[in-house]
Amino acid sequence: MTELSADWVLPVDGPPIENGRVRFEDGVITEVGAGRAERHFEHAAILPGFVNAHSHLEYSLYAGFGDGTAFGPWIETHMERKGLLTPEDMLALARRGVADSLASGITTTADYSFSGAAVQAAGELGLRAIVYLEVFGGDLDVAAQRFAGLQASLPVSPLVQIGVSPHAPYTCSLELYRWCLSLGIPVGTHLAESADENEWLQHGTGPLSAIAPFLQPPSGLRAVATLEPVLGPDLLCSHCVEVDGAEIGLLAERDVPVAHCPRSNALLGCGIAPLADLRAAGVRVGLGTDSPASTPSFDLFDELRTAIVLARARQQRPEALLADEALALATRDAARALRIDDQVGTLTPGKCADLTVVSLADSPYHPVEDPAAAVVFGGSPERVIETIVDGQTRYRSEDETQWREVRSTASAARRRMLAPRR
Ligand SMILES: [Zn+2]
Repeated sequence: MTELSADWVLPVDGPPIENGRVRFEDGVITEVGAGRAERHFEHAAILPGFVNAHSHLEYSLYAGFGDGTAFGPWIETHMERKGLLTPEDMLALARRGVADSLASGITTTADYSFSGAAVQAAGELGLRAIVYLEVFGGDLDVAAQRFAGLQASLPVSPLVQIGVSPHAPYTCSLELYRWCLSLGIPVGTHLAESADENEWLQHGTGPLSAIAPFLQPPSGLRAVATLEPVLGPDLLCSHCVEVDGAEIGLLAERDVPVAHCPRSNALLGCGIAPLADLRAAGVRVGLGTDSPASTPSFDLFDELRTAIVLARARQQRPEALLADEALALATRDAARALRIDDQVGTLTPGKCADLTVVSLADSPYHPVEDPAAAVVFGGSPERVIETIVDGQTRYRSEDETQWREVRSTASAARRRMLAPRR
């Protein structure tokens, strides 16, 4: 039995507990309540580990590639540079992504993986994950072969569940989506991320023409309408920036889960997803960092603040997203979107012992008045003291030697992708 306490415990399934305690045994939470343990974290909060609703762990060091270019050329740059990597490089980068996630307090991630390297990396370093293996195109045999080949090459880990990701409506046929959904495993895609996507799908024009050989022929419809025949509760849709009122209504009616990635959408110039409208319509929304291919980091605290800043700016209302609601988006709600809320997302007896301990000392929010605001506005990866997955400590800030090898190998892989200097 392990017992931890802190000045604050935020179970997320109920109000914050001042001087709270969490007990767990064999990886399962057994008790959450008031009390002090022998291991007490002063000036700190214990919260459910973050559930990241959208990541690409193997793009951990793609930071800055194609920055400032349109969505089409941006994808093109990434495809080119990815082609310079060996499978070992991809594994090194995925390990770095796992390390950075754990250091940011993330205990579960929903990862779309091109090479499948995320499976091994998450299993080794102890991050809970659903890894959606990416498939593309319109040829079912080619996609099925790619999926089976990847799956057979991957190790099995109790923390990792395998899913499949038909990439997007402009790169995959509806038939491929139907096949993925028939497999009975988690399915995730990218949907309505950019206006460029709608332009290609409706008219076959625009910046995505740059990668036309990899694209599906235009459907003549917007992205949501293109996928309408397959939209349902089993298809996790990342982004959903370019959705109008009727499309939001359809997503709600079909109970389609959405991963909201505000930093990625903003930095790629795609826009601000209508988070308040999606939530008001009853759509299951979780927060996701996406990857350093588009965002600077797997820093979920930065994502939380960006979600709040952009929701309030878009709606012109300060209550468009409150701190405790944002925290729920990155824990309880993300777990609901991924349909794993019976296992993770809140500090509830019977759920997995996935916890994050965050220091609040010397932040502008300390002494604490509202602990959710202190964590969300005052938190950062530098303030994460410890990350626990399945009852096991997977990250401790005081251990500075952890992952030294992981970092240097990943840096070497990034160096190979850098544009040659003239
Ligand atoms: Zn993505």
